[in-house]
Amino acid sequence: MRRVRRILPAEQKRAIKLAAMRDCGRRCVYCAAQLDYAGATLDHVHPLAKGGAHDQGNVVAACPPCNRLKADMLPVDFFMRYPWAGSNFIHHARAVHRALKRQARRAVSLAFAGVQAAA
Ligand SMILES: [Zn+2]
Repeated sequence: MRRVRRILPAEQKRAIKLAAMRDCGRRCVYCAAQLDYAGATLDHVHPLAKGGAHDQGNVVAACPPCNRLKADMLPVDFFMRYPWAGSNFIHHARAVHRALKRQARRAVSLAFAGVQAAA
């Protein structure tokens, strides 16, 4: 795991954002709102603060309100608390790691089965 975050040149950042938006169908992966370049933010599904990686399989496009809502929650906690976000994620986050999708499917089915996320 890389401990020091590298500062990416602006062009590389732009390329990563465009790739994430394309992979997510130009929608917020959590609420499915349509995004334009200026209105899109990048979200690390598994937060960097909790050991997530800055790679394509962990980066998605999200709208600012969803990004704030998710903050530093682990995806499984976020999806159990907000199963609608998990359902959209399963549908729209097409290029993420398979393990993240598996976690999302499990969290959503647990949430819909009425199991409460640990608060
Ligand atoms: Zn959103």
